[in-house]
Amino acid sequence: MAEPKKKPVPTPGANRPPNGGTESQSPFSDLLSREQLDTLSTLQIVDLIVSKLPTRHPSIMDVFYLRERIVALEETNFQALEALEKLDAIVEKLRSPAFRVGTFLMPIEPDKAHVCLGGTDYVSRVDPQIPLNSLQVGQRVLCNEAFVIVQSLGFDRNGPIVRVDELLSDGRLRIGQETGMMPLVLLRSSLLAKEKLKPGLEVRLDMNQRVALEVVGMGKRIDRSLETVTPLPWEAIGGQVEAVQAIRDTIEMPFLHRDLFKRFEHTVPKGFLLYGPPGCGKTLLGKATAYNLRQQIKTQTGVDHPEFFLHVKGPEILNMWVGESERQVRDLFAQCRERANDGALAFLFIDEAESVLGTRRAGRFQSILSTLVPMFCTEMDGLEPLQNVVVILASNRADLIDPAILRPGRIDRKIKVHRPDQVGVQRIYEIYLRDTLPLAEPKLALATAVTQAHFARIPGNQFLEVIYRSGKRDVLYRGDLASGAIIAAIVERAKSFAIKRSIETKQETVLTREDLVDALNMEYAENDLFPTTDVTEDWMKLTDFDPDNVIRLGPVRPRKVEALGGGIV
Ligand code: ADP
Repeated sequence: MAEPKKKPVPTPGANRPPNGGTESQSPFSDLLSREQLDTLSTLQIVDLIVSKLPTRHPSIMDVFYLRERIVALEETNFQALEALEKLDAIVEKLRSPAFRVGTFLMPIEPDKAHVCLGGTDYVSRVDPQIPLNSLQVGQRVLCNEAFVIVQSLGFDRNGPIVRVDELLSDGRLRIGQETGMMPLVLLRSSLLAKEKLKPGLEVRLDMNQRVALEVVGMGKRIDRSLETVTPLPWEAIGGQVEAVQAIRDTIEMPFLHRDLFKRFEHTVPKGFLLYGPPGCGKTLLGKATAYNLRQQIKTQTGVDHPEFFLHVKGPEILNMWVGESERQVRDLFAQCRERANDGALAFLFIDEAESVLGTRRAGRFQSILSTLVPMFCTEMDGLEPLQNVVVILASNRADLIDPAILRPGRIDRKIKVHRPDQVGVQRIYEIYLRDTLPLAEPKLALATAVTQAHFARIPGNQFLEVIYRSGKRDVLYRGDLASGAIIAAIVERAKSFAIKRSIETKQETVLTREDLVDALNMEYAENDLFPTTDVTEDWMKLTDFDPDNVIRLGPVRPRKVEALGGGIV
């Protein structure tokens, strides 16, 4: 520690040169020139004085004391100087302008980089202390006043989230087809370089919105199928003559005769609701609508509008994240509008529509439904009729759909898809028993035989027992619960019997009526279209019964079937 400073005591005659010498005479001129003297420190001068004094000079101890004081003083000076320098450096740092933070986009060999700063692109130099290959695409980098990259800051932890619309062939991502967002093409960050991405995923962007940084796994995403419908002429649908006619009147007519509809100022529907039991062809009819409308327009006008069939299941839209389901609905409409603008015929097909557009009954999804229904109505109201977007709803429980959805100007056509009757069933068998298959008999004969077996009023065909509130008991037969789906499954199963036989006997086989009847029996025992429980409510969904009139509806007990003769011969 330096000694406290003491005020110097003036010595009499101290300013006078010693020995009464003249001022022009330089001190120590006998030893050093004036210039040499000027380069010496005070301490060195004192040492010089000591060296000139005789060893036993009475003042020698005083000079030593003086020397000590000078050493202490110089130490203090040195420390003060150091502190001052540090302070200067701090002041300098505090005065310097802020660094900029940018997004590293691409290295430019050997020592430059493409960065984006505040939305503007720069080619910056990289501090030689930072190896260029240590910087990763999408990382934040610190740039100084000269825009030189001086530090890497790692990846952003926050940023906007967007949905991927399309993967470009070189791996870049297209986003922003959603309403209100400008479409953008993004780079992938180094983190995503090798990730398998697909449209519909949500990704987080860097602050400059140039790079997709990571996939954010929030929320359930709609596993929507974007389909181009396979060729499906109306004739490929059996037993739905009335439904097909209703669809053609509802959709085909206005599209094909726009002028007439305009002249008569006839309202044109924007879509329709298909309702009826499961497996009877609602989805098939929806797809056939898309396929046939495209063909009809092409034939009549020569213009081909490729169809865009967006098939969504209602429950997939329901999402536990607040606002996410609404976003999904908006997005579905946005996609359709976009494709229609590009010249496609867009179809939005919502299966199990009652689950998302149901009456706002109490329950788990009540709060979501209370916003989804109005949102859907707003989107429907925003659609222009005949602008190449058609909305098709399908439901097993049309009675549960909110009436607001079914008002004029929205989905105001309800088309019933019945269970096929015997004629319809025969027709569907004929569709699936194609002439090109190895059949044991002519298609018609086989179809007739299996249809008769299907509809035979024999005990083995008894399938459901109904007990009405009045106490009356009734039995439903297999024919009463026929559907296109079960017929398609029966024919497939019959084919597998014939194939197995062929493998076992090592001989060519053909599909016989026995194969079909065996398949019929097994399908009704195992088909997963039917509930596996005895719960009346589950079975009611398959029928048109008024729930108020029925006390019990359930399978005829297997025991009973056995007792009654079982199987069909
Ligand atoms: P839904 O939508 O009414 O539940 P789908 O249209 O999905 O029924 O039918 C399931 C499958 O059953 C179809 O892919 C088709 O193979 C067959 N199918 C259903 N109804 C018919 C029908 N009327 N004509 C021909 N095949 C049908």
